[in-house]
Order: sequence, then C-alpha cells, then structure tokens
Amino acid sequence: MNAPSGGHAPPHAPRRKWAIAGLTLALVVVLAALVVLTRVALDASRSRAAVGRTDPNPVVTVEESYAATDDSVTTPSLPMSPTRPPVPAGPRPVAATAANPLMADLGMPDGGCVLPPWSKYEKGVMDFLRAGLNCLDARWRPIMAQLNLPWRPPALEVTLESKTTPCGGSRLDPYNSYYCSANDLITVVPESYLSTPDGIEFSAATAMAMLAHEYGHHLQYLSGIGHASRARETAAGEHSPEGLELSRRLELQAQCLAGIFYGATFGATAVEFAVRDAYRRGDGPGREPDHGQRANVGAWFEHGVTRNRLADCNTYTAEPDAVG
Ligand SMILES: [Zn+2]
Repeated sequence: MNAPSGGHAPPHAPRRKWAIAGLTLALVVVLAALVVLTRVALDASRSRAAVGRTDPNPVVTVEESYAATDDSVTTPSLPMSPTRPPVPAGPRPVAATAANPLMADLGMPDGGCVLPPWSKYEKGVMDFLRAGLNCLDARWRPIMAQLNLPWRPPALEVTLESKTTPCGGSRLDPYNSYYCSANDLITVVPESYLSTPDGIEFSAATAMAMLAHEYGHHLQYLSGIGHASRARETAAGEHSPEGLELSRRLELQAQCLAGIFYGATFGATAVEFAVRDAYRRGDGPGREPDHGQRANVGAWFEHGVTRNRLADCNTYTAEPDAVG
C-alpha cells in the first residue's frame, strides 16, 4: 500500500508546479485583459463626452444654454415654483391713469355696425344687445392692438334681479347696469334703458349708449387705468372727497370713451338722442357724488362724440370743476 502511494509521489510534484504556473499565467492574462477593457471603456466614454460638447445640434447643449441665460424658460424650474402664475404672452396692462397708453393721440375711424331691430320681447332684446356687444368688440379691438394694450371680449348678462358679484356685495340699486372687472362681466339692468323720458322708440339708442359706457369700463380695466384708479380711491377712502372725485374721473372717462364709439359708429339721429339722454343722467340730489353732475356726464359723452380723440378723454388731468 506504501509503495504505490510512495511510488506515485514523485510524478505528482512537477504536475502541481505546472498547474500553479498555468493558473498564475491565466490570472495575469485575465487581469491584463480587464485593464485593457477598462481603458477602452473609459476612452470610449471620454470620446462620447467630447462629441457631446462639440456637436453643433445636441439637445443637451441647447437646454444648458437656456439654463445659463434665463431660468424662467427652462422646464425644470416650473415644477419647483408652483405658486408663480404663468405670465400670459402678449401686451400687458399699464398701472397708470393720466399717463396710460389708452390716452393716446388716436381716434376711432368711421364705421358702422348692423344691429337687429329692437324688440319688446326678452329674446329680441338679448339678440340686440349681443349684436351691440359684438359691434363694440369689433370697433375697439383694433385700437387696443394698435396701442399694444391687452384685449379680450367681456361677457354679458341681462337680469332683473339684484345679484352678488365677485366685485362685492349684492346690488341694491335696481336701476343701473354695471361692470365687474373680476369676471369681465357687463350686467344690463333693463330699467337703465327703459327709464328714458323720450319713450320706448328710443330704448335701442339708450341701451346701446349704456352698453358703450360699461364697455368703456372694460377698456379702462384692460388698459390698467381701472385698477390704478381704484387703488388710489381705496387708499384715499371710498367715501372721502378725494375718493369720490377719483370715482367720478373713472365714470366720466367711461362716458367719453362711449361717446367716441357712438359718434364714430351711429347716425346723426341716434347720436343726437344719446347726447341729450346723457345730460339727464348723473348724480341726483341726495345721492353720493360718485358719477358726476348731470352737466358733466353729458359733457364728457359729447366731448367723445365731437373730439373723437382718446387723449381728450383724460379725465385724470381735467380741472376739478370738469369732474364735479
Ligand atoms: Zn359706470
């Protein structure tokens, strides 16, 4: 049993040596191969990076250049600032009254609108007022574009009820139409055009003049005059003498803007009636002086008709007597 085991011993020794040498060689080869592969991989990634920087049209390079110059246009910054409202493209309102771009040396070109016949029925009245509003849109929109001021159409509703509006409170005065800038809404109260003493045949002309006045307020808020004026009014106190004067300047300017539209759009008979009607409206006895005396309410409408020039509607530079 010993012989065979002892006899077997010598040949085993050299075979083990060769095996160890073989394994070592194999390890060296594998390691060398790994080093070479790693170098190749690194070189490849370096060359890809180099190509990325020098490529004239890579998407990554374009995004990086935006990020470096203006962070407001990079998409990654938007989810990080969810409270910042998106800035609408296009013209912006200007927070100024007397120096507002709406007070430009510019008039409305002569032109007409086709309106349906007046009707004593509700549907007919709505059709007429909608056509009247479309007419106002068509006449004012190009002027606002020319002045680089924002424009959008207002909404319209006709109601017999006192309503709560986003502009505050329930309307207790059932005789006046009104405009709310918070939702761009003109609310027409029929009493405001039915109350003319000239009779029912003038309802259409009255309704159109009233609509043009409310549209004047819409233009004031689009341009920035409305908010600027109201901010000053609030700061002065709405019922203070200064606050009431600011309210009258806003109201009388809406009259002047309405006059510009009316005179450039309708025939002599309608214009003559609307001017006469305007001189009957305004702050009556016992009422808070927030719209202007009748003489001034009429005069500013007539001023718009005869001058047809936005700069002449600048009630914010007018003498106090003219806005009393
Ligand atoms: Zn008004």
